[in-house]
Amino acid sequence: MLVLSDIARLAAVGIFLTAMPTADPPALDAEVERHSILMGTVARLVVVGESREQSLQATRDIEDVLREAEDELSTWRKGTDLDRLNRAPVGSSVTVSPELDAELSRALACAELTRGAFDPTLGALIQAWDLRGDGRRPSPGELDEALRLTGSHWLERVEAGWLRRQNVIVDEGGFGKGAALDRLRRHLADGPPRRVLVDLGGQMLLSDPRPDAVPWSIAVADPDDRSTPVLLLSLPDGSVATSSNSERSVSATISADPKSPAEKIGHLLDPRTGRPARDFGSMTVWAPTGLEADCLATGLFVAGPEAALELARERDGIEVVVIERTADRLHVSVSDGMRGRVEVISDRVSLLSQEPPKKSAFRGSSTGSAGPRR
Ligand code: ADP
Ligand code: MG
Repeated sequence: MLVLSDIARLAAVGIFLTAMPTADPPALDAEVERHSILMGTVARLVVVGESREQSLQATRDIEDVLREAEDELSTWRKGTDLDRLNRAPVGSSVTVSPELDAELSRALACAELTRGAFDPTLGALIQAWDLRGDGRRPSPGELDEALRLTGSHWLERVEAGWLRRQNVIVDEGGFGKGAALDRLRRHLADGPPRRVLVDLGGQMLLSDPRPDAVPWSIAVADPDDRSTPVLLLSLPDGSVATSSNSERSVSATISADPKSPAEKIGHLLDPRTGRPARDFGSMTVWAPTGLEADCLATGLFVAGPEAALELARERDGIEVVVIERTADRLHVSVSDGMRGRVEVISDRVSLLSQEPPKKSAFRGSSTGSAGPRR
């Protein structure tokens, strides 16, 4: 869905351009920027190539790759591979493209890694809360039923494709954009060297294959106002994603009294309880791949700041920046690999020295999920 604040946000992340390289071979100095509506958001594509024509052509090719990904991954329209899987009769299997096959496996692996805080099979819960519509509070019975239908054990990978063992619904919202960015990276690897940034509304691909490439400078927004950048991150190639409720939220009346005010419901649910995740601020994740950054930003927002810092400590190649709000301040905690890469650009921010979490945040905290069966 295109919203006006997307435009403001685009301005906020424009800062990275200051870090563009200038001369070293191969000389990349022809910059083209394009905004397109893709994957339900305003996509910002920036290519710096050797010539203007090459850069222009690259933005068109990028659009094609993203449209193709959307044709397989979107559950917002009928007839895509994922939509067919979601509508398949219980007990039947659906064959999907090799790429989508691998992406589903990786999304389920992310569910396992986050002990079910990320779960791509939570479509029934999304429907129960009407998160694609105006929002509503489900009855206890509806919530129980949606929880029962959530879980990767209802989806089984079989020789001929994916077997739907229950009326489980796959929701690509937490991994689809990241998956598309990985498809894009593979596409870019086949072409000439180019510096490329693609921002799909908070999920970014950062790609510059040159060994002497300068780091990317990426803005992180105030969790309550995505048009206001509060941090600048200096990042290497890879992917960075931010999850917060400023991206999207719906309202629902929570009480039987029609005069009571509507409650804001975030678009991030905890699949272990079926309820909206605690809204502490925002979760930014850097990872080598788009799918990991995307699903971990979502899953670690749900799991919470302590669990996020712990996971980053345990997993090489995963770095996090957590913003927690109090009444008037924003407190920022970063994983070890992010130290020295964060610049504060707002008076509201306090950068906390990272302390080890007091307890093991992941262990014993969830129902877990089975992951793909092979
Ligand atoms: P964006 O809308 O920018 O992609 P996220 O990457 O944070 O934001 O993904 C949020 C979307 O992921 C939600 O709109 C919903 O479709 C889906 N989702 C919500 N909670 C979860 C969860 N716990 N696990 C997996 N997907 C989720
Ligand atoms: Mg996402």
